[in-house]
Amino acid sequence: MTTLSSPKKDKNRFGSSTRISILDIPFDKFIHKEAFSLVKAHLKNPNTKAFFIATPNPEMLLEARKNEYFKKTLQSTDLNIADGSGILLASKILGNPLPERVTGVDFMLSICRESVNMGAKIFLLGAQEGIAEKAKEKLEGQFPGISIVSTYSGSPDPINEQKICSLINESGADILFVAFGAPKQELWLARNLENLPKIKITMGVGGAFDFIAGVRKRAPVWMRKLWLEWLFRLIQEPKRLKRIFNATVKFPLVFLRNLYSNKRKQF
Ligand code: UDP
Repeated sequence: MTTLSSPKKDKNRFGSSTRISILDIPFDKFIHKEAFSLVKAHLKNPNTKAFFIATPNPEMLLEARKNEYFKKTLQSTDLNIADGSGILLASKILGNPLPERVTGVDFMLSICRESVNMGAKIFLLGAQEGIAEKAKEKLEGQFPGISIVSTYSGSPDPINEQKICSLINESGADILFVAFGAPKQELWLARNLENLPKIKITMGVGGAFDFIAGVRKRAPVWMRKLWLEWLFRLIQEPKRLKRIFNATVKFPLVFLRNLYSNKRKQF
């Protein structure tokens, strides 16, 4: 198991002091373009450790309160971008607003686009059988010249880790997208990243392969703008009710209770 480095609460690996903390999880105060410039700089640098990107959402923050290893993992990533309106709202209440929502799927697409210019190779790991392959075809259509060297559905079960790491290393990939859902994908990366020396950029992407492959629909832009994505997901996948409840009801309550008790401690 990887030894997690000490939490990088205030500074990211590039030294900027632009992190805020929500329920002990750091978030980088970047718009899409700024966050992406860090990724580009890292891709250009030939001798660096993998740059680990996470997109913590309200459910992940709740999970991190129960799971110390997950919390430490999210505190040790190189870039945490806010993929969720609940996180943006929390940052506003804290008086230190994050500038915009940067969705995991959009950020993944930006990295894919840039990989063409950089000649970087991509590995797609996770999702149901056949989905990563379908996502590969779509990405090849969208970004001519993209090099997706391999896809593997796999499983986040630790028993399969050695085999998956060998596949990734043999593929020669520089960029690894992992779609096992949170927290499995981040925990998988925390355990295995040190055994993937060629990977320069990695990111847990949740359901992004499903969206790109077209087997799951994204909420229309107007719903995203009105922060109603949760409603669209509920209609599409009623079985997500508990997860949506956690994100829209439980998270705000936990956040506000925490804020109140911190304020009381200050007096
Ligand atoms: N997934 C997987 N293996 C697992 C659990 C999930 O490959 O053991 C995949 C699942 O098929 C989906 C992705 O992980 O493609 C994440 O799905 P989820 O709905 O949790 O994503 P999110 O809500 O984060 O977008």
